[in-house]
Amino acid sequence: MAFTLKDLPYAHSALAPHISEETMQFHHDKHLLAYVNNTNNLIAGTEFENMELTDIIKKSSGGLFNNSAQILNHEIFWDCMSPNGGKINSKAEEVLIKSFGSIEEFKSQFSTKATTLFGSGWAWLTKDTDGKLEIIQYANGSNPVVDNKEPILGLDVWEHAYYIDYRNARPKYVEAFWEIVNWDYVASKL
Ligand code: MN
Repeated sequence: MAFTLKDLPYAHSALAPHISEETMQFHHDKHLLAYVNNTNNLIAGTEFENMELTDIIKKSSGGLFNNSAQILNHEIFWDCMSPNGGKINSKAEEVLIKSFGSIEEFKSQFSTKATTLFGSGWAWLTKDTDGKLEIIQYANGSNPVVDNKEPILGLDVWEHAYYIDYRNARPKYVEAFWEIVNWDYVASKL
């Protein structure tokens, strides 16, 4: 079963000015497409050919692991953002305050993980099988499913995610992310 490049859940320009149309054209149409194509080429004729995406991620290594995990990472990432985002809802507020003390503290801890991750990778809010929430840095293409944790809110801090708009200023990109977080999506996973 070949994977396909799923459409963005909004127009490429919808997240501007926080994330530009040009960034989304490169990020979705070129970077994610390459991960999809690489995954399809690597699974063809192998034991992975008919597996679900999360099973491929959990059972593979090397190039297949990196490319397949990046499909999952990006599909969740697009859902974590919305042109109507930014305003937290009461359910997310309640759950996050219980785990982190306050929304400001949650955002501060998440932003710190995102800005201090060395090199390419992701910051994830994760939920384990006991419902415990954690903010964890994942290097390169890795995803919380490898630790049997559910990915809830993810932020891509690869340079391809922000270099067109913010150049080297990753903290500015992280700050802008909060303006477009899709809290309805996040709350549905909490
Ligand atoms: Mn990316």
